[in-house]
Amino acid sequence: DAFNNLSATLDEAWAKMKGVADLSPENIKAPLKDVRRALLEADVSLPVVRRFIKKVEERAPGVKVTKGVEPSQELVKLVADELCTLMGGVGADGINFREEGNGPTVILMAGLQGVGKTTACGKLALSLKKQNKTCLLVATDVYRPAAIDQLKKLGSDLNVPVYDEGANASPPSIAANGVAEAKKRGDIDVVIVDTAGRLNIDEALMNELIATKMSTQADETLLVVDAMTGQEAATLTKSFADAIDITGAILTKLDGDTRGGAALSVREVSGKPIKFTGVGEKMDALDPFYPERMTSRILGMGDVVSFVEKAQEAVKQADAEQMKEKIMKATFDFDDFLKNMDMMGDMGSMSQLMKMIPGANKLSDKDMQEAEKSFKIAKSLIMSMTPEERKYPDMLVASSTAESRRNRIVKGAGKTEEDLAELIVMFGGMRVKMQQMSAAMGSEAAKLGLQ
Ligand code: GDP
Repeated sequence: DAFNNLSATLDEAWAKMKGVADLSPENIKAPLKDVRRALLEADVSLPVVRRFIKKVEERAPGVKVTKGVEPSQELVKLVADELCTLMGGVGADGINFREEGNGPTVILMAGLQGVGKTTACGKLALSLKKQNKTCLLVATDVYRPAAIDQLKKLGSDLNVPVYDEGANASPPSIAANGVAEAKKRGDIDVVIVDTAGRLNIDEALMNELIATKMSTQADETLLVVDAMTGQEAATLTKSFADAIDITGAILTKLDGDTRGGAALSVREVSGKPIKFTGVGEKMDALDPFYPERMTSRILGMGDVVSFVEKAQEAVKQADAEQMKEKIMKATFDFDDFLKNMDMMGDMGSMSQLMKMIPGANKLSDKDMQEAEKSFKIAKSLIMSMTPEERKYPDMLVASSTAESRRNRIVKGAGKTEEDLAELIVMFGGMRVKMQQMSAAMGSEAAKLGLQ
């Protein structure tokens, strides 16, 4: 299958470069060609593939190859990570509900005919019902004759009320009346509007959707996209996203014969999360969207990815243990600082380290980003220090040669005096923290009778 194919070609590409140890711009050319092909075969649209490969090309040379891992495997892992990030990262985005007391949350389901929009309305109603939310379905798809009856049937099967006005009223006004009905009833948490679809995208459709959004003051506008449409999904999503400002998407028919590349396109061109996936015709065939699963589906190299993850984890674990020992002993120099920074690059291992340290504060994402920025500068500065300077940081502040040393370092790193001053302050602060932690750990250990 496509997976073995890609894996084999990658191996081939790398076999030609036996002996290389890193991911240099030259080294990654051949394997990235295969990755590119794999993405296209998975139905990711061409412009999206191009932008994606470019991103990977930029990041690859910065990757440190983990011990025991082939550079090609490291590249696959990088590609997988980037895919995952592009599709929204860790968790699936759920529905943004309105705050209690502000009336029912209104969700519009938009999409072309046949994509599975009406089915998705039923599925979502069932899923919300399982979360103990009461729903009202509103049938406004007046252009597909069977849609209204279909929704009424789904509603009665699911025991969820359906509001409709037949096929002769205008969709925005039916939708508004539906929301008013929900408010009047007072027992409805969520109104799901099956909007009017069309065979093709046109202005009338978009205008109607905009009018429906306004008449209902919708909280969510979810675009339903058929994964089977493959490359087309990108263009289609873009048109909808540009015209009606969607808040997310539902990718349907993923149970079919598709490698799911549409997921990447949808996210990339709209910037909006895929919130759910449809994986069958039955009402319970709605899943939250899992970027990791979709990544292995698109790339088909889950084994390689998890292998590299394990190897990286093992190395990081060892580093964290070592760092902990350093902290206990309260020796801390620029080399440790550098190591610490590399570990910071991976939030997982950083928070793991933090967990081991009693009394350590949690860092927010913003803190992390800020830290990452200054760490980059710090790293290049430390890189241009001599081994002695790294080992004995005080040489840079309290010695007769301090000033000339600092000048040399700044020049070598292409940074400013201020950058170095900032680093020294940051380092000093960290060293004090480390000493405090060490003291804290000592007393913890003493309390536990370990000392
Ligand atoms: P609408 O015109 O967008 O409202 O489309 P429908 O909801 O009527 O769905 C069109 C067809 O696709 C129906 O036969 C559905 O059963 C089918 N369908 C919808 N979602 C899925 C899905 O996730 N998987 C599969 N296999 N079929 C689906």
